[in-house]
Amino acid sequence: MLPLHTNAARWLRGAISIFGLLLATPCVRAQPDQPFSPTQTSAAPAPLLVIPMADGSGSLVIDTSAAPQLTDWAQHELAPVLAAWYPKIAALLPSAGYSAPAQIHLAIKRIDGVAYTSGTDIVASASWCLSQKHGEAIGSLVHEMVHVVQQYRQGHAPGWLVEGLADYIRWFRYEPQSHGADLVWMRHQGKNFSPRYDGSYRVSANFLDWAAVHHDTNLITEVNADLRDGKYTDDFWKQHTGKTVQELGAEWKRLIEGQVPRGQKSTSGGISYSWLVQLEDAIGL
Ligand SMILES: [Zn+2]
Repeated sequence: MLPLHTNAARWLRGAISIFGLLLATPCVRAQPDQPFSPTQTSAAPAPLLVIPMADGSGSLVIDTSAAPQLTDWAQHELAPVLAAWYPKIAALLPSAGYSAPAQIHLAIKRIDGVAYTSGTDIVASASWCLSQKHGEAIGSLVHEMVHVVQQYRQGHAPGWLVEGLADYIRWFRYEPQSHGADLVWMRHQGKNFSPRYDGSYRVSANFLDWAAVHHDTNLITEVNADLRDGKYTDDFWKQHTGKTVQELGAEWKRLIEGQVPRGQKSTSGGISYSWLVQLEDAIGL
């Protein structure tokens, strides 16, 4: 969602596997007879897939014309997840009088960074999807679909909440089994790990999950509605939990640090918290 940081994006492109030569192919629109089984006009997978949402509320177009080697993956692995989860995300983030956009367009092509969302258009890096098609690719696009559902008013939504909510949906609702933002992940962040409620992405996702569990079970729905309606201010936290966001953040931080001993060495290859958050900020996840 955020602008891409060129240096970090270049680094990322170099760090992940090299994406092969992209061959331009003509788009073939496929009209599916049933979800996830688009009619083919040739033996090769169609590079433009039109996928109905699982609840019939709309459709998702996936354009792999710039990355045809990903068409089969997009059709059989990515599309079923996105079509199933878009209605779920919309149900998790409702507000009065609001309907999530019915049409989403996802293009997988050669870009710097990982992915970004503008309105109802998602653009994902072909090289990222290729290297992470059995790893993080699908989850990162679930995150991007949250941005399509959010549709927050410009200037009224703090970035840490926008990204924290997107990662909350991803890591705590879509793939909690991956432990990508919970205590398991935090215990792997190395000795400099020091959580901040407004640390964005996974860290804020963890704070939101904790605040919802311990202080207000409707918090996610309520904060989303205020953000979308342009009503959100820091007073939200006092009104709904009786504490300021700073007080909540301090309470949460004490709890985390009590369970993640400072000075603990990473057991996951040494990826540091600060490095990861900086990277996520830079690449616009
Ligand atoms: Zn994002």
